[in-house]
Amino acid sequence: MARFIFITGGVVSSLGKGLMAASLAALLQARGYKVRIRKFDPYLNVDPGTMSPYQHGEVYVTDDGAETDLDLGHYERFTGVSARQSDNITSGRIYQQIIQKERRGDYLGATVQVIPHVTDAIKEFALADTDDLDFVLCEIGGTVGDIESLPFMEAIRQLRNELEPLQTLSVHVTLVPYIAAAGELKTKPTQHSVRELASLGIKPDILLCRAEHPIPDNERRKIAQFCNVRAEAVIPALDAPSIYSVPLQYHAEGLDAEVLRGFGITDAPAPDLSRWDDVTERYFNPEGEVTIAVVGKYVGLPDAYKSLNEALVHGGLANRVKVNIRWIDAEIFEQDDSEIAARLEPMHAILVPGGFGERGSEGKISAVRFARERNVPFLGICLGMQMACIEAARAAGYEKASSTEFGPTEDPVVGIITEWMGKEGLEKRSAEGDLGGTMRLGAYDAVLAGNSHVSQIYGGAKQISERHRHRYEVNSSYKDALEGEGLIFSGMSPDGLLPEIVERPEHPWFVGVQFHPELKSKPFNPHPLFAGFIEAALAQSRLV
Ligand code: GLN
Repeated sequence: MARFIFITGGVVSSLGKGLMAASLAALLQARGYKVRIRKFDPYLNVDPGTMSPYQHGEVYVTDDGAETDLDLGHYERFTGVSARQSDNITSGRIYQQIIQKERRGDYLGATVQVIPHVTDAIKEFALADTDDLDFVLCEIGGTVGDIESLPFMEAIRQLRNELEPLQTLSVHVTLVPYIAAAGELKTKPTQHSVRELASLGIKPDILLCRAEHPIPDNERRKIAQFCNVRAEAVIPALDAPSIYSVPLQYHAEGLDAEVLRGFGITDAPAPDLSRWDDVTERYFNPEGEVTIAVVGKYVGLPDAYKSLNEALVHGGLANRVKVNIRWIDAEIFEQDDSEIAARLEPMHAILVPGGFGERGSEGKISAVRFARERNVPFLGICLGMQMACIEAARAAGYEKASSTEFGPTEDPVVGIITEWMGKEGLEKRSAEGDLGGTMRLGAYDAVLAGNSHVSQIYGGAKQISERHRHRYEVNSSYKDALEGEGLIFSGMSPDGLLPEIVERPEHPWFVGVQFHPELKSKPFNPHPLFAGFIEAALAQSRLV
């Protein structure tokens, strides 16, 4: 029988509920339990796929091709459990399904209502496919009191009532602000938030209190008294020096012990936290540092490249170095040529990440050219690989080489492929399709060329599986031209049609990948491409 932990947030948004859920799941996992984390997003988009990264941060893609909330990235990075489509639901998806059923006449004449139809759909989502699990952590997006999260709160209330007495637990994450002028921590916002939650019929069992200053025992007791929880269940969650210290920090504050107590579990094995000890030991004791340029478009918002940022850190952990990331807006290179050398010369490696649209593309191509000509380690991801191919085509004399994503072009080195062989047979997409759901999404295999640099990076593997999220492909009819210029196609889709990886054998480290390796990197298991890239950056740092 799976036990359910419902995680809600109060007072303000951005308290790091996702990280909290991921850390708690990691602690339960460290005690030998089987866990899964699910995210309930109250907004009306069907999925975050069509949202701007500035609105929502990165879109995290799962193996089964779902475009999901970036919190699922935290979940995977902290637990190693691959997230699925069925781990992220939005109000939009629920309403879409209900309205489709209503149009089909499936409700047999009934009035379709938030209670019970929407709340039933939410409960079904929480309970589905959980038989083999010990704990299911359900994180509710937004803040208690939001109008759009009300059906989710109601569904939780019902579930707490319907499941067994010791089968559910409510964890409420709040903020205990420090008022500098008064020199005091304030517990009132927490009290109000708990009252709001209680008015919806949910009594929290554990309060996780985010604070910038330690919460003295008397304040803890005060919160406990006013909020009707045990003092031990008021867990201070102070700002952590690294996200990877959070599981250890919460454990030291007694969070996992309190959760187990809440479920009446008295015989839990002690946690094996060696994985987190190792990660934090590496993180806090680097033996050197490297500086990496990321030349992209959404550089103003770190969340837009969340997984990439983390994967670079993991590459640093693998090499025991600190990774400094310089986020560079590609458009700067378009406005002023002299910026290219000025900004990139001090860098130990250059990365061009994934992206959409023409803006900044010429700047990204300039960054690729700089990396190629100056022998600086280069990693191109998705759009970054496409830019590397366009750069090579131009070097090979195709001056007009471009991507059809940016408009009609005489030399479509990157273009739409409308048919290809997927795992379940022929897959099709059209150039005119809706923006939502016309991409190559999720895990696809790539066959690696025998003596290539990438097969060596992947430890001699012949075939790999990586996650995709893109509409356009490198056009393999330019293969000979690009290979003549030194850019080799070293990874292809199993049917041999779609270029998956390119590399330059004559260059110290130059790799472009059509997929997103950053999505599968873990702190305790850094992705080989990032470990290799940072290793190359380290070698470069010894040259300059
Ligand atoms: N815009 C490109 C495409 O759709 C690349 C997408 C990406 O980098 N994720 O193919």
